[in-house]
Amino acid sequence: MRTTTLSFIGAAGTVTGSQHLLTLDAHLPQPRHILVDCGMYQGPRELRRLNWSDFPIPPAEITDVLLTHAHMDHTGLLPRLVKQGFQGTIWCTEATAELTEIVLRDSAHLQERDAEFAQAQGYSKHRTPEPLYRVTDVERTLPLLRVVDFDTPLDLGDGVVATWIRAGHILGSASIHVSTEEGTILFSGDLGRHTHPVLRAREIPPGADVVLIESTYGDREHFEPEAADHEPLADAIRRTAERGGSVLIPAFAVDRTEVVLQTLALLQDEGRIPKLPVYVDSPMALDSLRIYQASRYREELREDVNGLKLPQLDVREVRDSQESERLNRPDRPCIIISASGMATGGRVLHHLEHMLPDERHTVVLTGYQALGTRGRSLAEGARQLKMHGAYVAVRAEVVRDEEFSVHADASELLDWVKALDPPPQQVFCVHGEADSATALTELLAQEGFMGIVPQRGERVRVRSGKVRKRGDRLE
Ligand SMILES: [Zn+2]
Repeated sequence: MRTTTLSFIGAAGTVTGSQHLLTLDAHLPQPRHILVDCGMYQGPRELRRLNWSDFPIPPAEITDVLLTHAHMDHTGLLPRLVKQGFQGTIWCTEATAELTEIVLRDSAHLQERDAEFAQAQGYSKHRTPEPLYRVTDVERTLPLLRVVDFDTPLDLGDGVVATWIRAGHILGSASIHVSTEEGTILFSGDLGRHTHPVLRAREIPPGADVVLIESTYGDREHFEPEAADHEPLADAIRRTAERGGSVLIPAFAVDRTEVVLQTLALLQDEGRIPKLPVYVDSPMALDSLRIYQASRYREELREDVNGLKLPQLDVREVRDSQESERLNRPDRPCIIISASGMATGGRVLHHLEHMLPDERHTVVLTGYQALGTRGRSLAEGARQLKMHGAYVAVRAEVVRDEEFSVHADASELLDWVKALDPPPQQVFCVHGEADSATALTELLAQEGFMGIVPQRGERVRVRSGKVRKRGDRLE
């Protein structure tokens, strides 16, 4: 009798660090291990420290990694997995493979730079601070990526079949349905809203015995009528331009930049904002934009975005870091889109350092801001912010435009579960802070589903029709 065990390694009780391990025949001397996502923890130091902990099993024993999508919190630890001995195959959709390359290269550069910076400033407790991984580790990771098609079952051997279903969260994103001889498991990945401003809507995947669902917004509904139509953003741009200031939009390089640009284009078309130069100040965001605009992915985009060509915008590409510095002294109002979206790193930091102390400027936050990030502090009205070891006064206006979220809200998450056929026996709420994950389990219970917030490190046995905690007696 074959057995299937599911271990919750990351994103349990927190939003980042998605990693789930499927183990076949855990009771035998040579079990088969398949990892679903290999994400990095982001946010507060206690969480980031987990990026340095050992994988629960030697990475050399993992045969395959299945990726739901390219975001850092789902792919960011792949180079570390490889550095520590993983030699198997990393399966993902074509756009995910392309975007993952961008994400991992950028991540390795940041890791290397942070380690150098820590050494130069004497921040680190270590005499020679080591980066989590280097660009050379990324170079060894990329050849392991293998592309799969949506909706096409992939036979992984040992009776395991995996299928990727469009999730409408970012380009290439998918939910992954895995069937084993013992039962079926559906990994939601990150789920988009019913509608995405740029991408075609998500599709309903086949149901499964066990479902893992993200719960980023498990306790929230998105739309408050006063925040509809991106009016907070449009209003902020008009006000800021009138007082001669500029608008800084911290945005995740992958997807959020595309969504922000598409929104600015619509606002421009509707005559709701003045025509200002729009600087995309992030090489990573620009690379990602190229991929979104590539004709081979036209199928994944909504027809009405016309391949995301954006003719109505005065988009200016900023690749060079000196040009990026020059943007801190704009000679006329402009809009700057820069990464990272939660102001945890990247060029947006030096813009914040220059723009926050000046009350003419505005910072527009675009979506989820994780606990412990500078973005979260700004959203919560911080009067000062620590950057590069020093405090900076916050006098600029800070505006949130919640409509930018590309995660499903509570009722959209529930709709996704309710549409599954057959309905799941058990639903594990992952990828959410404890409160939102718990709130989602309550909503699920009201609909007659068993919702569980797994603990980090918890293992459960997958069985058609029922799941038992490891250690429980199985009859
Ligand atoms: Zn994501």
